[in-house]
Amino acid sequence: MKYEVVIGLETHAELDTESKLFCGCSTKFGSEPNSQTCSVCLGLPGVLPVMNKKAFEHSLKAAIALNCEISKFTNFDRKSYYYPDLPKNYQTSQNYFNIGNNGYVDIVVKEEKTRIDIHNVHLEEEAGKLIHPEAPGANYSLVDFNRAGVPLLEIVTQPDMRSVEEVESYMQTLKSILLYIGVSDCKMEEGSLRFEASISLREHGSNIFGNRVEIKNLNSMKAVLKVLAYEISRQSDLLDNGEAVLLETRLWDDVNSVSRRMRSKEESHDYRYFPEPDLVPFWIEQEWIDETKTSIPELPVNRHHRFVNELSVSDYDAGILTEDRLLADYFEECVKISQDCSKELSNWIINDVLRELNEQKINIQDFAISPEMLVALVKIKPTIGSSIAKDVFVEMVNTGKSAPAIVKEKGLAQIDNASELDEIVIQVIEKNPKAVEDYGHGKKNALAFLIGQAMKITKGKASPKILMELFKQRLSTNSK
Ligand code: ADP
Ligand code: MG
Ligand code: ZN
Repeated sequence: MKYEVVIGLETHAELDTESKLFCGCSTKFGSEPNSQTCSVCLGLPGVLPVMNKKAFEHSLKAAIALNCEISKFTNFDRKSYYYPDLPKNYQTSQNYFNIGNNGYVDIVVKEEKTRIDIHNVHLEEEAGKLIHPEAPGANYSLVDFNRAGVPLLEIVTQPDMRSVEEVESYMQTLKSILLYIGVSDCKMEEGSLRFEASISLREHGSNIFGNRVEIKNLNSMKAVLKVLAYEISRQSDLLDNGEAVLLETRLWDDVNSVSRRMRSKEESHDYRYFPEPDLVPFWIEQEWIDETKTSIPELPVNRHHRFVNELSVSDYDAGILTEDRLLADYFEECVKISQDCSKELSNWIINDVLRELNEQKINIQDFAISPEMLVALVKIKPTIGSSIAKDVFVEMVNTGKSAPAIVKEKGLAQIDNASELDEIVIQVIEKNPKAVEDYGHGKKNALAFLIGQAMKITKGKASPKILMELFKQRLSTNSK
């Protein structure tokens, strides 16, 4: 590739609050259109906004977790524009004093750590949602203001990403940070997390950026990666032909997998930003910042690192375990209870627990098997063998009973009493003279056959290890 790729991302995350940013309306997703509105979020004349403290706290927490410098003085600005989903004709946002500036996120691509700088983090309100009916002849649009005024955090990176892989890792890392600190549910399918990408190309070694294209309307991480691949080829063709890349906003058409021009890129002065006169500025005390810092849990990258180095979990497994904070908590709880076998526990969680969660479409907090129960299964496993342990696991999921209870109820414990097994071994030897003779002639599978016969008698509950020893002993005395 002749060109270097330069990418920056703007992320919008809806904050997880009960009520909207400036009024008491519910933020619940999926309700009857326009059932969660009031005079404030509909922008009727004479109303006054009141800041939602939780939303403000969430944005402070996010800015700290993203390593930003926190502006102690912060206020809100009006970003003026007209659009049918924006009842006030301006969006209350932050422009001159963002809550956080100059942060960073460390990402890992192919086991290499790279730092993506964050330009700023700011708090603003959502717009409503336009619905364009597709019915034939429908020549109208509908607007749902339930979303208008939902608190929204915008996180803007520097143009620091140099490949599609870095973008993918950044999106995933950012998502897991927001989930870890509990400020957003990050449900992309509900629009709680959305990305806009800016991309430009330049010749390798050049130190000036090329013209960028901004792409909106990306509703999945997959769409982001697809549009970037598309733009890389579209822009490099233009440059190869000596044509200019226009500074513009494009929309991604997921059905046809192309990006289309929407408009020329707006400039910040187009928005006529000015300080919001209806809200007082905010002063954030150092004490508040310090308190918030202590409420931030260990972030996924660090936890991943610790799982690998202290709990001997593989790099790959640690990645899966730390993706979801509650899953990582579950694993750590198991390790704490068992005091050892972290490797075995991580295997159970990654193979069996995750499979069940997927099948039942539930989260770990709703799972029938508690950490105590999983540890009890792992501890009892040596007495029942691995394959029966898998059956017991399924039984636990279905009945909610503990492993020891199931083992007892179904009589699954292995017979490891040597004298009890020895009787059976003698029996089997007497009934199978041919196999005994074959064994004497050095036929290895004769022993397996004999063990199989003994297993049949015990209905699979004998310890194969003890049986093997007993047969070897008996048969060697026989042949003497
Ligand atoms: P605006 O306010 O017009 O959206 P910003 O300065 O906020 O512009 O930048 C938007 C995004 O574009 C940021 O994520 C930034 O990293 C990215 N960006 C800026 N310049 C370039 C460029 N030349 N190539 C790629 N991305 C860029
Ligand atoms: Mg922007
Ligand atoms: Zn309202």
